Amino acid sequence: MPIDPDFQKNREKVGKEEGIAIWGPVEPPEKLGIRGTTVAVDWDLCTGCGTCIEACPVQLYEWKDTPSHPTSEKKAFPSRESDCIQCFQCDKRCPVQAIRVIFWPSGWFMAMNCLMLAQIIVGVAYGTFMGPYLGLRIPLYIGWAMVPISLFFMVAPGIYFPKKGRPQEGKTTMDTTVLVDSGTYGIVRHPQFLGGIMLTSASILVSQHWLSAVVGILTAVWGYTGYLPKEEKGLIIRFGDDYRRYMQRVPRLNLIVGLIRLLRERRS
Ligand code: SF4
Ligand code: SF4
Repeated sequence: MPIDPDFQKNREKVGKEEGIAIWGPVEPPEKLGIRGTTVAVDWDLCTGCGTCIEACPVQLYEWKDTPSHPTSEKKAFPSRESDCIQCFQCDKRCPVQAIRVIFWPSGWFMAMNCLMLAQIIVGVAYGTFMGPYLGLRIPLYIGWAMVPISLFFMVAPGIYFPKKGRPQEGKTTMDTTVLVDSGTYGIVRHPQFLGGIMLTSASILVSQHWLSAVVGILTAVWGYTGYLPKEEKGLIIRFGDDYRRYMQRVPRLNLIVGLIRLLRERRS
């Protein structure tokens, strides 16, 4: 039997080991529970084969001794689970399906996402109800026009992943097993991120407030330099040469280049 995909609902968090959550029941030495939240290992299933430790490209696992446990005397411990790049190599290869990698979210990711969301909502609400800070009409209209286009890109994973990505059973739609490279994913590689950046820009244009601009630029720069490279690293490992070819064919975020390439491809 594999690790319970709903262990966070079905089990109780009973403590922490080196900052990593322990999900019960724990009755040592026979019952050890699950270690980790976003990279979770069911120690009662783990046979200590070491496949995950060898497979992980960011070396986030380490061994822990578990003397007298029925399945093995050492277990894989996800000591740096926040470093996971979601390549799913450990999850896919574990012979007893003791690992569950959950599509993100690290604390930083959540914090920056909340900041981005607040910037969008507050900025748009401010510009709409109070009027733009600088009183410029044309940027205001451009900002409003950008909102539906941004939303079109934002909803991309919800539309394409369930149909074309063949998500793993019992996991979220983000846990795709097949590379999705059509639809808006045929224009840019990260349509959802592009949608987020466009919404942030729309919020700046609608509010025309310096605070909206500062927060918007900060979150966009963090996403581009901190989040996207990490995600792409995981995708390269996950989909191998298919993803490398996709990178050559489709730009990361450049909408104009993406549309020109797509049109050329269609024509030829
Ligand atoms: S691959 Fe699975 S069984 Fe092997 S050490 Fe890792 S968690 Fe344990
Ligand atoms: S999904 Fe990839 S990066 Fe994350 S723990 Fe598994 S092997 Fe390591």
